[in-house]
Amino acid sequence: MTAQSPPTYFPAPRRARFCSQCGSPINRRVPDGDNRERDICDHCGAIHYQNPRMVVGTVPVWENRILLCRRAIEPRYDTWTLPAGFMELGESTAQGAARETLEESGARIELGPLFTIIDVPQIEQVHLFYLARALDPELDPGPESLEARYYDEADIPWEDLSFRTVATTLKQFLEDRRRGSFGTHRYTLESHR
Ligand SMILES: [Zn+2]
Repeated sequence: MTAQSPPTYFPAPRRARFCSQCGSPINRRVPDGDNRERDICDHCGAIHYQNPRMVVGTVPVWENRILLCRRAIEPRYDTWTLPAGFMELGESTAQGAARETLEESGARIELGPLFTIIDVPQIEQVHLFYLARALDPELDPGPESLEARYYDEADIPWEDLSFRTVATTLKQFLEDRRRGSFGTHRYTLESHR
């Protein structure tokens, strides 16, 4: 036996090579009655549809300060993000946003209204952020965060934010706060960063 270094785990590519039902090779073509290419198994007949993924998060506030987390994971290790992550099966967007907030920062929050919905078609994702009010200033970041802290507006690390969806949401939040009225805002970003 040859010694092997442990594998580096990563999310599997969206395009599978083999059918997850029967293990036969996948073909890509337009199924009858459809209008776009799909991953098709011609052995068992399964069509492996792919659809955008949801990323859900919050804008937690404690006494006018905004919670940011410093990422302990790739992509964008060591940059600052609003607490957010992939929605899991079986939960609502609101439940997912609250769960991610707790996991990444330890913040206990009261969830508010939906604030931004941001399409990022290039990376096949939709990002949703809810407003949130922290119930106390305590933080206890989990393994996905190097650090979590509340920022005054003047101290937000704009040059070190993780994603454009985060910067877009923060800018809109500050604008709405100055105006004294929070809405729900829809964006489409052409790239993720
Ligand atoms: Zn199959």
